[in-house]
Amino acid sequence: MDYAATVIKQAEIDKYLSGGADFIDDAAIMRALESGKNPDPKKVRDIIAKSLSIETLSMDETAALLNVSDPGLLEEMFSAAAQVKRKVYDNRVVTFAPLYCSNLCANNCAYCGFRSSNTVEKRRMLSADEVKKEVEILAGKIGHKRLIMVYGEHPSTGADYIAETMQAAYSVKVPVRSGRGEIRRVNINAAPMSVADYKKVKAAGLGTFQVFQETYHRETYTKLHPANTVKGNFRWRLYAQHRAQEAGIDDVAIGALFGLYDWRFEVMGLLSHAHALEKQFGIGPHTVSFPRIEPACNTPFATRTGHEVSDADFKRLVCVLRLAIPYAGMIVTCRERPAMIRDVIPMCTQRDASSRIGIGAYSDRDGGQETERQQFMLSDSRSLDEVIRELASMGYITSFCTAGYRCGRTGDHIMKMLRSGREGRFCKLNAILTFREWLDDFASPETKRIGEELIAKELSEVKTRMPGEFTDEMWTTLNDYYRRVASGERDLCF
Ligand code: SAM
Ligand code: SF4
Repeated sequence: MDYAATVIKQAEIDKYLSGGADFIDDAAIMRALESGKNPDPKKVRDIIAKSLSIETLSMDETAALLNVSDPGLLEEMFSAAAQVKRKVYDNRVVTFAPLYCSNLCANNCAYCGFRSSNTVEKRRMLSADEVKKEVEILAGKIGHKRLIMVYGEHPSTGADYIAETMQAAYSVKVPVRSGRGEIRRVNINAAPMSVADYKKVKAAGLGTFQVFQETYHRETYTKLHPANTVKGNFRWRLYAQHRAQEAGIDDVAIGALFGLYDWRFEVMGLLSHAHALEKQFGIGPHTVSFPRIEPACNTPFATRTGHEVSDADFKRLVCVLRLAIPYAGMIVTCRERPAMIRDVIPMCTQRDASSRIGIGAYSDRDGGQETERQQFMLSDSRSLDEVIRELASMGYITSFCTAGYRCGRTGDHIMKMLRSGREGRFCKLNAILTFREWLDDFASPETKRIGEELIAKELSEVKTRMPGEFTDEMWTTLNDYYRRVASGERDLCF
């Protein structure tokens, strides 16, 4: 039996189809985009108001926003997108690091350096001990608390390997200045799995399961992913998050690789995906990713797709996604240049930093950045310390909070809290505590100075928002926890 046939469980796709159809309706998307042309400014402002009340937008509403070209109206949209972010997530930015575990891959995606036909790529899969060495640097030297572990799709790196490497990451505890370095949340970006395999990775302590559809445009998808591979099956991928939910993984993440097809179509595809998850489970995506395609080693297709997204369009697509799915976290990555990240961060909730995407690249400093060992090229190579300093000087607090998932604030529960703004209360307090930990354990003197000014501002904000948003009891507990964290206690959270 070929590999694809051993992986794909047709019954786990069919049960979600409606009358044989999946939730990507190409014709309906095209129609909405066409009829949304030249939107009336009054209508656009009503749509913005709906988004500001943290309601998911419809296809037609989103299509109208995608068609706005008037500079004044666009400015209003950008400002509303930043307001939506503030309303749901305040001034917090969560940071994480990618940890590439294996570049063995049986698929042959035209745009990826890991594709099986790329003979120049040096193949390597990390052992559990090698993963621990990477984590010693990430958690012990840089100070990350949150990882996205990344895997190619290959018989040698299935769910058992993923679970084993996740557990290896969690097992590392490194003494640092005043506390300990450790990973408190492992998310994964991996190929779609069966329900049984998802249960294995959930049992290993999975935070979020992330997989990108790459392109929601079927015809393009078929061209870029050969039919004889697992990834060649559009629907197996399309329902990856449904199966993950079915397996009990509450936090699922969606994304599209921008640059493979028309960016407006992909935004509508992501929105259709969010609608489908909301409809089926009452829970939309935990996060949305919008990576732009980057050059990759020996991969000419990545530099001439014919659908390259300009910087101006990239900002628009981030803005429309922010408005269309207002409760979702939004992730910008080091694929983008620092200036672009600065421009879109007011609309985003997460970014990576200090990232290296070669296999073994954190611990193997001599060979790890070789282009033949990584999937594509990064544009922001600044350290976590530099990134945090910049964010703090822009008024953003870096949150290392991982309490949500560990205290059961996931899925449906968190969705309700996000929509009502209640999640923000806990997050604000936990951001202060985890930022204090990081400043004491890892920050350079300059970052510590700027960070402490920000913490003082945050504490006074909490105080002024009493008794409405915060209670006396919360304030007392915060002060107690803060004092204990400052004297070396770790992992205290609300
Ligand atoms: N193999 C798994 C899969 O395909 O879902 C997960 C890992 S893959 C390494 C992670 C993501 O990298 C892919 O989903 C794709 O969107 C992205 N990617 C691939 N080639 C890229 C490129 N040239 N530039 C930017 N992102 C790329
Ligand atoms: Fe393999 Fe994922 Fe790269 Fe495709 S995108 S070749 S599946 S690693």
